[in-house]
Amino acid sequence: MSNKHVFNAGPCLLPQEVYDRSIEAIRDFKGTGVSLLSISHRTKEWQDSMDECRALWKELLNIPDGYEVVFLGGGASLQFLYVAMNYLEHKAGYLETGVWAKKALKEAQGLGNAYAVASSADRNYCYIPKGYDIPADLDYFHITTNNTIYGTEIKHDIDSPVPLIADMSSDILSRPVDVSKYALIYGGAQKNAGSAGCAFAIIRKDLLGRVTRYLPTMLDYRTHIDKESMFNTPPVFSIFTMIETLKWIKAQGGVEAIHAQDEKKAATLYAEIDRNPLFVGTADAEDRSIMNICFVMAPGYEALQDEFLAFSKSCGMVGIKGHRSVGGFRASVYNAASQEDVEALVACMKEFEAQHK
Ligand SMILES: *Cc1c(COP(=O)(O)O)cnc(C)c1O
Repeated sequence: MSNKHVFNAGPCLLPQEVYDRSIEAIRDFKGTGVSLLSISHRTKEWQDSMDECRALWKELLNIPDGYEVVFLGGGASLQFLYVAMNYLEHKAGYLETGVWAKKALKEAQGLGNAYAVASSADRNYCYIPKGYDIPADLDYFHITTNNTIYGTEIKHDIDSPVPLIADMSSDILSRPVDVSKYALIYGGAQKNAGSAGCAFAIIRKDLLGRVTRYLPTMLDYRTHIDKESMFNTPPVFSIFTMIETLKWIKAQGGVEAIHAQDEKKAATLYAEIDRNPLFVGTADAEDRSIMNICFVMAPGYEALQDEFLAFSKSCGMVGIKGHRSVGGFRASVYNAASQEDVEALVACMKEFEAQHK
């Protein structure tokens, strides 16, 4: 495993400690003599883990009073529906920045009046729309802070005159966030927060309960806040990996220290993309994501695409084939990817250049 450099978009690379602790816990959870996969979720040992998970989120993101964190099955995709169910009454606005944003909007349109306030579809989502106004009569405004497929990112907490809801699946825990600016932050665990199998939701409690529709028990955020994410059996393995991932972030110095590492990794790779005449980046420079770095063969070198992919594999690179809607290549450099992984990819690009220029 160690001679591979994993740039998968999600599920993705996790810190080595997370793999090691998970194997230990599957053998024997907290010295109980029972596997994590077999322990009752009603035991004190598991209850303590749930408390630890919530506490770590609150500490790392400085989550203010009045908010709660819940862990739910169904991934980020089911959160698209939760959002509309719990907040859509009259009208909702979405920032259409890619496929995930469109899928979120579609769920809301299935339940009521929702539309795209602004869109970057005109240039295949290679930038973040700017200069739009958020109407003051919306129930909420929904953004996707990092567009995993296109490599664009909203890198700061925007101001909104209406409750702001953010899908942060692929950039959560990569930078400090002013949680107080959001009504809801959610995402799937399997990028920066752990293994696949659950979603996290950071919820401002006083904005719930304002819709008149019937809310099925499982789709009502209040159920999961009241029952501390234990209304039904929680996805214990995914939550366990989340705790270990959060502990690792804390040991790195927290989200600010992680952000400095992430910026350095991204700058290293973008510098090579901009320098190397064989490659060109696809996202507008000012909106470039520090998590998902998309690039294609430069004009005149298009025919070398498959050859570079094969060459990169021979150099130990995993998962750099671009998403079909952008083509080319995508290196996902989430928190657990190291500076060494990025430098290995840069060396591979330089070697390829030397062979073909
Ligand atoms: C991966 C991803 C999703 C989908 O997550 P699932 O947990 O697979 O449903 C949604 N939004 C964004 C921004 C993503 O990167």
